[in-house]
Amino acid sequence: MLAVGFAVILSLFQRQLLGLDDSALLGEGTARLQPLVWTALTLLTEAAAEQGFELKVASAYRSYERQLTIWNGKLSGERPVVDDDDRPIDRAGMSFEDCIACILRFSAMPGASRHHWGTDVDVYDASAIEPGYDVQLSAAEVAPDGPFGPMHEWLDERIAQGRSFGFYRPYDEDRGGVAPERWHLSFAPLAAAYEIQCSAELLRAVWSDKAWGELGGREALELQLDTLFERFVARVAVAPKAALEYLPPT
Ligand SMILES: [Zn+2]
Repeated sequence: MLAVGFAVILSLFQRQLLGLDDSALLGEGTARLQPLVWTALTLLTEAAAEQGFELKVASAYRSYERQLTIWNGKLSGERPVVDDDDRPIDRAGMSFEDCIACILRFSAMPGASRHHWGTDVDVYDASAIEPGYDVQLSAAEVAPDGPFGPMHEWLDERIAQGRSFGFYRPYDEDRGGVAPERWHLSFAPLAAAYEIQCSAELLRAVWSDKAWGELGGREALELQLDTLFERFVARVAVAPKAALEYLPPT
């Protein structure tokens, strides 16, 4: 990473990591992923279909710009910030630090979302819902008695058996940072490389470059960034060995 004048020069890998380069992705709309991830996801989808599940992508790649819009919208109050039960939080009287922690429970800092990498995907079971059903990706939907519960139970078994084609759950349980996200799958063989290179230093660099947009609350965020990074970025599940070592067929 080089700083030339006011501009920060990033490598292609760093731009991909930060959601600033989507040139290697395949797919349309929000369903965009790296080619290898598509290959593995197709195999997982076929295996799910054999069990009667229709595994679909709710969301995959998200750019830095999109994450910045979400972040700034939540910070300014234009978008609702919700609690663990999906109820809007009343921010009156709440400190700025507490407000940031509430946002980070469900939304990543721009540059630190795993959805930037083209390796992570939110999924649901289309066979379990009526046409026109609005998928929320809520805790209730993926609970054992929720519409997507059975597919996720099946996914748990595949992951535990090392038969999930490289996918695992980085947000499998509550570690006091990001809320559990049972719908979120990560393709370990590629995601591991991004995860290891993601750093507070890199975030500071991209936030400092106005070319990528103005980050709301940047000063406050930077003041406590090392703590926030550990709690809301680094604190994820370790990828199972079988998922990490998975090689898609060529
Ligand atoms: Zn997700």
